[in-house]
Order: sequence, then C-alpha cells, then structure tokens
Amino acid sequence: MKQVAILGSTGSIGVNTLDVIRSHPERFKVVALTAGKQVDRLAQQCAEFKPAIAVVSDADGAARLEQLLRDQKVFTQVLYGPQALVTAVTDSDCDTVMAAIVGAAGLVPTLAAAKAGKRVLLANKEALVMSGNLFMQAMKQGGGELLPIDSEHNAIFQCLPSQFTKAPMPSLGVEELWLTASGGPFRDAPLDQLKSITPEQACAHPNWVMGRKISVDSATMMNKGLEVIEAFWLFGLPLEKIRVLIHPQSVVHSMVRYRDGSVIAQLGQPDMRTPIAYGLAWPERIEAGVAPLSLTQLTSLGFSEPDSDRFPCLSLAFAAAKAGGTAPTVLNAANEIAVAAFLDEGMPYLHIPLVVEKVLNAMPTAAADSIEYILEVDAQARKAARQYIQTLNL
Ligand code: NAD
Ligand code: MG
Repeated sequence: MKQVAILGSTGSIGVNTLDVIRSHPERFKVVALTAGKQVDRLAQQCAEFKPAIAVVSDADGAARLEQLLRDQKVFTQVLYGPQALVTAVTDSDCDTVMAAIVGAAGLVPTLAAAKAGKRVLLANKEALVMSGNLFMQAMKQGGGELLPIDSEHNAIFQCLPSQFTKAPMPSLGVEELWLTASGGPFRDAPLDQLKSITPEQACAHPNWVMGRKISVDSATMMNKGLEVIEAFWLFGLPLEKIRVLIHPQSVVHSMVRYRDGSVIAQLGQPDMRTPIAYGLAWPERIEAGVAPLSLTQLTSLGFSEPDSDRFPCLSLAFAAAKAGGTAPTVLNAANEIAVAAFLDEGMPYLHIPLVVEKVLNAMPTAAADSIEYILEVDAQARKAARQYIQTLNL
C-alpha cells in the first residue's frame, strides 16, 4: 500500500490524482492533502480520503477548514502556511509525493520530498526550472525516485530504456528528444488579433483542461519553454538536442530519436490521468479511467516548427536556458508575475513577453548555488516585474 501526499490537491492535477487513487483503494492511501485557498473543496476531499494532515495557506482558511471537518466528524490535523507544506511531506509517513502546486510556491516542499527520499511525482515544473541542478542533486542524495508527470516528460520517460537514470544518454544511442506542443488556442489566429486576447480566450485550451496559469503559458508557449528546461534537467541531454514540434492533435505526447534511425513515441488521449497513473504505480500499469485511443478516428497527425514571431516566450526560455545559472529562475518569476497581471489586472496579453524580456535583460545571471540565493533572486525578479508593469500605466 502506497502512502500518498498531494501538494496542491484542489487543482487540476490534484483532482485528477485523487480520481485515479479513488479507483484503487487497495493500492493507495492518502495521508496528506494541501491547498492554497480552496477550503471547501479541500474539506470535501478530507471527508472522502481522511488524510492525517491537511494544509491551507493561512490561519483564516485553517479555522474554516477545522470547523467544516468538525461538523463532519473528520479527524484530520489542520495546519497552515508555507512551512506546513514541508511538514505535510516530512511528518505524514508518506512514501510518495505528488508535487502539483503551481509555480514557485511549490519549490520548498518539493525539494523537501526530494531530500527525504520520497517517490516524487513531479508536475510542478516551475520548481525544477528554478532549482535545476540543486533539485537533481537533492533527489540523488535522498535516494528516492523521480517520475515526471508533465505529459511530454512522462512520454519521454516511457520511450527511454529503463536504465536511463544510470547511464549517459549517448551510451544509450539517444540523439534527440522531441517535445510536442499543441500550439495552444492562438496557433493559427491572425497576429493582429493577439492584441485583444482576454483571459477567458487564453484559458480555453483546445485539447487539455488545466489550471489558469499553465493554460496561459500554453497559449504563449512559455509552457513549452519551461518544459525544455525541465527536460534538460530530467534527462541530461544538451539543449541543442531538445527540440520542440507543434503537433495540434496532442496525441503524440513526445518522442525520442535514436542513433539507429528509430523514433519512439508515446501516444494517448490528452488526459493527465494517464501520466498520473503511470507515476503512481510505476513500474506497474494500472487502470486510469482514460478512454482507449482510437487511431482510426483520427484524420491526421501533423507536425511543424514553431513560429518564433508568434511565440516570443519560447525564444526567451531558450535564451534563459542557454544562459543557465539564475536566468531560468528570473524567467520563471517574471513570467508568473506577468501572467497574474494578465489574468487579474487587465494587462494586455502581448505584454507578457515584454515583461519577461525586460526583467531577464535587467538582471545579471549568477551561479544558482544555493536555494536561499535562488529564492532571493526569485523575489528580486518578481519585484522588478511588478515595477515594470506599473510603468505600463494599465
Ligand atoms: P491549478 O491552478 O489547477 O492548481 C494549483 C494547486 O496549487 C491548487 O491546489 C492550489 O490551491 C495550490 N496552490 C496555488 N498556490 C499556492 C500557494 N501559494 N501555496 C500553496 N498552494 C498553492 O494548477 P494545475 O493545472 O493543477 O497545475 C499544477 C502544476 O502542474 C503546475 O506546475 C503545472 O505547470 C503542472 N502541470 C499541470 C498540468 C495540467 O494538466 N493541469 C499538466 C502538466 C503540468
Ligand atoms: Mg506538458
């Protein structure tokens, strides 16, 4: 029986994870659940899964959650604040941690899971983008297993030989990793229409149902940029060997090209329960509740190069990846602030890459050699992004 903690259980990945767990009560026990502000949903989840620990962001939320649980006679310990997210990982007797908080807020607890030797199911790509080398070192020292949940990286994991974590890629004959991208809702929109994109339009992804931040990142393709950096750390291949292909149907989730001419791909429905079930049960495979893929019902599978005029965020991410050090931390922080300004403050969609570029250019790149320093750079980049957005007089 696996003991599972879910960081970010009320989000899109969290809810899908609980959906898979729900159909396998003999395999998985939920021992900790955490949420930011969605107290009512967390209360329902606690009533159903009865974890030992539940965490919310603040004291008010914790008081409300305690009340709701008392009314339902659920005996879950309620904690709050960033440090409590670490407690949920270290003190809940979990052996498996689903890291599904969105953004930099997930870094510290995800790192705690790595250090504690847990099986880390990594959805929170921002944590790895920010801390790359340190995170991979922490995983090694902790001795746990790292399973990518992001569909592309999960696909690549499935397409690699099982010894890939122990042998360098070239010795396995791997030449390139091909990350597929749907191109988001504006893949074919006339460029002059991008000026007036609304948050609702940006969040209406053609193939995937996801949280709002990653939906906007998919529209700008910053998501794919973050995923290139994620792949760089997870699979240890040089950046030049990680390519992005637009694939509008989202059926091929990514591919590995080998030296002998073979290309191995993983195909499936665009449903995150497949990679989630794979990560939870690995190396076994379990029922995920996902409809079978019907190839005969597909009219075509298309692949093309991304257009850099349409997707400047992708080029910015490649530039930050190339610069290395703290540049990906800055990229990520500026993007988080810019996306929030677009979603919540009426900042125009096309300002997102402008904010990221401005902050990346303004902040010098340094070595990312401690988590404290990375968190400091993250805070500085957020401040710089907010200041720049203020000058835009929205
Ligand atoms: P979401 O917005 O739906 O959920 C985020 C979760 O994190 C929620 O439970 C929320 O309460 C919690 N949270 C947010 N801010 C917090 C904070 N400051 N402190 C504590 N908890 C906080 O997001 P999502 O779509 O589920 O994505 C989660 C992560 O998984 C992201 O990093 C995303 O890039 C990645 N991911 C998601 C998908 C997808 O299909 N949704 C696919 C691949 C990767
Ligand atoms: Mg992805």
